[in-house]
Amino acid sequence: MNATATRRALLGLTSTLLAACATEQQGGAATLEGGPLLRIEPAAPAAGGRFAQGGLALGRVPAGSKVTLDGKPVRVGPDGRFALGFGRDAEADARLGVTAPNGRTEVRALSVLKREWDVQRISGLPQSMVSPNAQQMARIQRERTRIAAIRRIDSDLPHFSEGFVWPAQGRISGVFGSQRILNGEARAPHLGLDIAAPTGAPVRAMGAGQVLLAEDLYFTGNTVLVDHGRGVVSLYAHLSRMDVREGEVLQQGQALGAIGATGRATGPHLHLGLHWLSTALDPQPLLPPL
Ligand SMILES: [Zn+2]
Repeated sequence: MNATATRRALLGLTSTLLAACATEQQGGAATLEGGPLLRIEPAAPAAGGRFAQGGLALGRVPAGSKVTLDGKPVRVGPDGRFALGFGRDAEADARLGVTAPNGRTEVRALSVLKREWDVQRISGLPQSMVSPNAQQMARIQRERTRIAAIRRIDSDLPHFSEGFVWPAQGRISGVFGSQRILNGEARAPHLGLDIAAPTGAPVRAMGAGQVLLAEDLYFTGNTVLVDHGRGVVSLYAHLSRMDVREGEVLQQGQALGAIGATGRATGPHLHLGLHWLSTALDPQPLLPPL
């Protein structure tokens, strides 16, 4: 037998083995017709199929499957859909594991694009907003604990995968991820998108959802949190006015308040935040291009 014939024979053997595996897989009720268990893609329309730091991804597995991200469980909806997010400092490699109800498993390695972050210097903030006193710190701590509890909510609302709209019209005055220097002191990175607009201009829900909180907080002023499901929650800060209450159900684009400068703000703007559970994401790539 010459080399080509040997290769053909080996290929023939491989096809037979693959066919056998495929038959076995089709025996399992929960597979997607014997194909891959996992479908996952960036939620950002312009991402070109690439996952990136600060990005939201949408996945689908057979209903009842278990999913892990770098070994940690990810909750999957009753319909098999799930969300996951990559933080500002996410590692370049992520590993997604899937175990279907029939025991079939799949592991997918995802590469996460590293991004460059700006440095933003802001001066002229009241010193109490840069270095709060003990009493203010106690309030801040209480609010952080409360927000952290809200960030553990992982509801079955389906709106996280329905796309998003701009919550306000205006100039982008601050981008996600920038290193912050406030009154000359290094502070935590800016984990949201700032849209500057006149006080009183409407602020709308970027997606349909349910209000988790509508309150005045120390740093973010009048703040509304909206749950879109599977841990995806948007945040609207510094509002001059809140027109919704906790528990209220909102349609996409529904007005929830008005632009303002409450909390730690140097002028009227909307600070738009987006989280997947405790991971802050960049809202901008999820919004229609400007
Ligand atoms: Zn901001």
